Amino acid sequence: MRIFDPHIHMTSRTTDDYESMHAAGVRALVEPAFWLGQPRTSVGSFVDYFDALVGWERFRAAQYGIAHHCAIALNPKEANDPRCTGVLDVLPRYLVKDGVVAVGEVGYDSMTPEEDEAFARQLELALLHELPVLVHTPHRDKKAGTQRTLDVVRESGVPAEMVVVDHLNETTIKAVADSGCWMGFSIYPDTKMDEDRMVALLKEYGTDRVLVNSAADWGRSDPLKTHKTGLAMLAAGFDESDVDKVLWHNPVQFYGQSGRLLLDVEEVGAVHAGTGNSVLRGER
Ligand SMILES: [Zn+2]
Repeated sequence: MRIFDPHIHMTSRTTDDYESMHAAGVRALVEPAFWLGQPRTSVGSFVDYFDALVGWERFRAAQYGIAHHCAIALNPKEANDPRCTGVLDVLPRYLVKDGVVAVGEVGYDSMTPEEDEAFARQLELALLHELPVLVHTPHRDKKAGTQRTLDVVRESGVPAEMVVVDHLNETTIKAVADSGCWMGFSIYPDTKMDEDRMVALLKEYGTDRVLVNSAADWGRSDPLKTHKTGLAMLAAGFDESDVDKVLWHNPVQFYGQSGRLLLDVEEVGAVHAGTGNSVLRGER
């Protein structure tokens, strides 16, 4: 089984996780910028974090044979803190970098006016840089939050096929399926979606425009949930090519729209050794 985890926060995971992910078939991932738990108090903290995502974490993943990409953004929660909103002004210099394949995570947490402003400005940046967008949906009031998210995306002019709306469940999938946006599902050990509910949704809605991720972070989560979902699909009668589509081809197709996917891990290592002039790039 070859796996591309389209949403996982490796900054908060160990080297044991990298080893077990590789053993389970994970060969590529996208790490979106997010809230770190401890509130950040200055723009400089974000700059250091973004540098770690484009540099250090990519290097660390390559040691385990995994191609690391990231998405860069001011997350919705910290968009409410005036000490952090200056981050919006530093985003453009990151959105041109190799390894940055999307704007994200953006979207709503508590649906405040400040979140509206940050979300709209970052959708404009995605349009300007022709990058896909990873949109987080709120954990509370999920249905209303998802509908408002879809309205804002439509008004932004960003094409639906460039947007994944993430953390969906049975109550929000239909609206996103109808919108033309990609549908993201985070499979967790004990909240939100699990593998069996995911398989039931794949049976009902099919495998097009679906991304399955572990969204593993510093909370209770499991970086092998992508693999476990693949096993649950096989047990439910899907074949190997269905699993390969959901766990590999779909994320490659979605993030490949950036023109910046690096899917040959040895070459990712070569970039860091200073010899990388033959890096494989997806076509725009
Ligand atoms: Zn996340």
